[in-house]
Formats: sequence, structure tokens, C-alpha cells
Amino acid sequence: MRRLDFKLEATALGSEARAARFRTRHNEVLTPTFMPVGTHAAVRSQRREDLLESGAQVLLANTYHLLLRPGTDMFRKFGGIHGFMNWPRSVLTDSGGFQIFSLPGSRTLCEEHAEFRSYVDKTLIRLSPERSIETQRAIGADIMMVLDQCVPSTVEHAVARSAMQLTHRWAHRSLAARGDSDQALFGIVQGASYADLRIESALTIADMPFDGCAIGGLAVGESNSQREDCTATVTELLPKDRPRYLMGVGTTRDLLEAVHRGVDMFDCILPTSLAKQGVAFTSLGRRDLRRAAYRGLEGPIDPACDCYTCKTYSIAYLFHLQRVHETSGWQLLGLHNIHFYMRLMRAMREHILAGTWLPFYRAQRDLLDARDSYGTAATHVTRADVRSRRRKRGRYEVMVRDEIGSIRDVNSGEVMHPGSDPGEEARLLYVEQSRLSSHLQIADREPWVIWDVGLGAAANAMTAILAADSLAFKARRLTLISFENDLDSLKLALDNIRWFKLLRHAAPRALLRDHRWTNPAGSIEWLLLEGDFAIRKFDAPPPDAIFFDPFSFKTDAALWTLPAFRELASVCSQKPAELFTYTYSTSIRAAMLAAGFHVAKGRGSGAKAETTIGLSARAAAAPHDRELLGEDWLAKWKRSDSQAPFGTAAADVTWRDAVLAHPQFKHAET
Ligand SMILES: [Zn+2]
Repeated sequence: MRRLDFKLEATALGSEARAARFRTRHNEVLTPTFMPVGTHAAVRSQRREDLLESGAQVLLANTYHLLLRPGTDMFRKFGGIHGFMNWPRSVLTDSGGFQIFSLPGSRTLCEEHAEFRSYVDKTLIRLSPERSIETQRAIGADIMMVLDQCVPSTVEHAVARSAMQLTHRWAHRSLAARGDSDQALFGIVQGASYADLRIESALTIADMPFDGCAIGGLAVGESNSQREDCTATVTELLPKDRPRYLMGVGTTRDLLEAVHRGVDMFDCILPTSLAKQGVAFTSLGRRDLRRAAYRGLEGPIDPACDCYTCKTYSIAYLFHLQRVHETSGWQLLGLHNIHFYMRLMRAMREHILAGTWLPFYRAQRDLLDARDSYGTAATHVTRADVRSRRRKRGRYEVMVRDEIGSIRDVNSGEVMHPGSDPGEEARLLYVEQSRLSSHLQIADREPWVIWDVGLGAAANAMTAILAADSLAFKARRLTLISFENDLDSLKLALDNIRWFKLLRHAAPRALLRDHRWTNPAGSIEWLLLEGDFAIRKFDAPPPDAIFFDPFSFKTDAALWTLPAFRELASVCSQKPAELFTYTYSTSIRAAMLAAGFHVAKGRGSGAKAETTIGLSARAAAAPHDRELLGEDWLAKWKRSDSQAPFGTAAADVTWRDAVLAHPQFKHAET
């Protein structure tokens, strides 16, 4: 069966860049093309009308997440994902391989299948190549992906080789499982960073009757030039008469380089995830609306763009929305970014077809990489500039007092661990209060899992690691998962390590390089989930303890809202989990109560008289000696003018009943 009817239209002179078209079950797809990422059958913050308007031809959804929630029965009931989300164009589903193998925690792998626990309800799930195809068929994807074994790009050759060979055997099984379905199926080239393996894998996949070929296992920590070399090596060996898809890549510049090397299809979360941080991709380069220089600027964020955002709003207004953490700011920038990506792909296609690719490519290379073109660049650089630059990075700068460094957010003025030795506060509030050392001495097959929300300069994480490392005897492994969307603070601290003593250890640099560090004994594992906590928390095993230490709600508003705490409470509901945080704000405690946590007083530290501990229902039901907030707090809350959880709409007062009826207080009354 001929499924995609792929037609190569042109290949650029002096380049591998190609323009092509193919037809799925829903529409014709013109390449090169970018596929917005709708992991959970929704593109974060974007309406379907805007996605259609942007010219998106294919959406990417994720088999792993959709299998767990809403489950295949829902798709069968609604006539597949197209009926469920009312999306008229094509959908490509990732197989779940990347999620299974990139996520920490318990999973086992054998020749037959991978086995892991659902983050939704902890049930044991077996995903075999056949089950993955069955799920993708139920979802109704136009293009399905084979189940593959992903390994970090830095693993040893033997490990990479065995993962590649398993991926090849599973590729055969996936093809057999697809049978005569009219849904297209792509094979995936693996091989980590080893050229010989990439070549072997490309030749093997090229030889099999797939409808397209994907390059997997990149965009996981390798350098740009490594990725570009690998892409070029692989595309040269892939068949010319089928589409090529580079998975998970990347910035606009990455896309340009990959098209130049012969890739046709892309997906990446960056247009929406960076929008949430205030970053726009524009025809003038990247513009970061967290920078004060944009305050009050007239004109659209991209003068060459005709999207709804650019037609309607000034930079000054978008800057303001970002500054007051208004969610429409995120949505509007995301809309622009997706439009910009789609428009860039169309421009690439036009230049390939017109025979003007090379000059376009050369001009765009520098343009796409330009940053924040709001003023004139400094021309003269002094030695003092160089020194002071070393103490600044992105939105952060180093502050030193008594030879102890802290990191300050230049935009908000907020300091991480203010007024005290960061290591001391980390020890008191997080490591000691969570009783980390005792937990690691109680035998258990599952690791004890800490979520470190807001890695910052790694004070909490390193204090936990050093405490765990100093135990003479551990009966249980520790998995520490750090969440961070801006690694500049840790990089800056490492550049100024004389003032950050906690970082004098192999772990932080390994974490930045590989997003993972394990101690030699294998008893401590530290993982980094980069990006938005709101999204990445679903990629982690549920926590036993949460070190909740992001910037305050003035800076990181989205993390402190009632909906955010509701999601957290739901993630914690399967375990006796405890959350530790530095604030004792009335409205944040109210948000935690309304979200379903039990809330207790935490110990004071520095200038703070108290801090806060949240307990999941299971933790509250078990014997504990936490001092739960009682009637006196409730009385104070009733008199307070900051009753409402942060960010709650005025019309929504459901939180009020939830706090008043909370079992924690009922119990106190009886
Ligand atoms: Zn725009």
C-alpha cells in the first residue's frame, strides 16, 4: 500500500535542503514543515483556530501520555484524536519510547517490552512495540512512530549499540503490527553520538519498508555542531523518496541548519515553552521581554509579522502582560512564536523552490541568532566590563557577603535564600525538616523521591546530596529530581565557585552536561528536568518530598496559584508526600488547603518566624507529628484581607468552602 504518496519537488543547489509534498489521511503536507507539540492532545495555551490560522499542517501528540490519560477507550468513543479534539488536519503520534527511557524511576526492559508505572494511578504498564502501535491506531494518528529505546547521547558505545539493535528488532515487530492499516509508520534511527552506529542504524532503517525515517536521540545535551554533523551523516544515507523527521529539534536556527542538511519535518516545544518565559522569536532575532529595555516600546514585537498578536498589540503592552504574569501574555507570545515558526518554514520552502536557498540560508543564519535588538551594541569593552560580566548571566547576578555568594534576579530584585547562608537555610528548612536521613535508613525497594522545584544555584539539591552521601549506611536509594527553566543561575554560580562552596563537587557540572548524575555506589541519582514545572512535573515519578523553593509569587506567579497546587496535590495523592516551602503567606496556605493539602507550620529560619509544610491526604492520615494549622489560624484567615488564593478569579469562590470545610479544621472542632 502506498500511504503518503511522497513527491520530492526540488533540492537546493549546493545544499541538501529539499522541498516536497505528501498526502496523509487528512491533508496535503508541504515540506519543510514544523509540527506544533500537543503532548496531551492540546497545544499549551493555544486555540485550535489560531493553530489553523498559523498554517500548521500536522500536530504532534504523545502516545505515552495519552495512553495513561484519557486512555484509548476515550479515543475509540470519539472516533480518534481528530474527533476528540476537533482537529481537521494531520496528527503524528510519538511512540512513547522517549518518555519511558528519559523519565527517571522504576522501569524495566526486556526483549519483549518496557514496563513502567503509570504516573496517574501507579498501575503497571507494559508497552511493547505491538501495544504502542495498537494505541496509536486507536488514537487515529495519520503518522505513527515505532517504539524505540532511547539512551542519553553520552552513554558508552556498547550500551548505545545494544539499544540501537533492540530498536531495530522492535522496528520489524512494529511494521508487522501495523499490518495493512492505512496509517503511515516511521522508523527511527538511533545510535547516540557514535558515527559508526548512526551509519549502521540509518542503513538498517532505510532498508525497511517504512513510510518515512526519523532521527531520534538528538537534542538531549549534545553540542550544536555534534547534532549538525550527525544529522548530515544520517540524511545522506536515508532514502530520497521518503520524508525525514528530526525529533524534538529545536530553535529557529537549529531548524534552518537541519533543513540545509536535508531534513523535512520538525517538532519542538520551544515556541510555547519560551513564550511562557517571555521570549519571542522574531525576524529581528530573539527578543526577551523580561528585559527592562522593552518597557514602553511602541510597535509590534515583530515588525515583519502579520499574526493576531503583532496586528493588535504593542511591545509595551506585551511587556506589561509579562511583568504582571497575565496568562494572556503567554498565550499571545505563543501564538506569535508558532506563526513565526510556520512562516519561516514556508519561506525556506519558497527559497528552495525558487533556487535562492543559499543566499537565504546565509543571511538567516546570523539573523535568527541575533538577540534583543532594541538598541545599539556597545563597541568598546574594558577589562572591568569583562570582570563584571562574569558576575552576571542572563537575568541573574552574583551578590557576595562575608565570602558567601547568593544569586539575585536582576528583573525582580529577588535574592535566592536571602539573608542567610544558602546552605544553612537549605539544611534547616528542607533537608532536616523532611527527615531525609531517617527515610534513607528504612529499607525499601523503591527509591525515596525528592522533587527540587527551582534548582537555582543548587543549594537545596547539593545540601541533600551531601547529607545523603555522609550517611554510613543507606537502606534505600535516593532519587532527586530538580526542575528548572533557566539554568543561568547554576551556570553563573559555577563560574563564581569561590563563593559557592556547596558546588565544589562533581555532581553539578555533570548535571548541567548530562542532565543526570549518579554517585559511584549507585545509591544517589540526581536528574534535571529542564523547562516549565507545570509541564515537566508529569514526566517525573511522584514525590515523597517536595522542596518547593521557586521565586515568590511576584516573580514565578504560575507556580503559586490554586490550579497549580491542585495539580500538585493530585500528583501527590498516591503517596504520603510532604511539601516544604519557605513562605507562610496566608493566601498561599489557603490555596494549599483549598487544593486538598493538609497544612502545618514549618520551623522558622532567618527573618521568617514560620515556614509551611503541606501534607498529602495519605501523609495526614498516617501518624505524624507535624503541627497542623488549627482554629486560631482559621479565625485569623477569616479576618484577613488576603483570603483568596493568588490568581483566583473574583467570581470563583469555591475555594472559600473548601478551606472552611477542610477536614483538618473539622477535626479540631469535634
Ligand atoms: Zn507576530
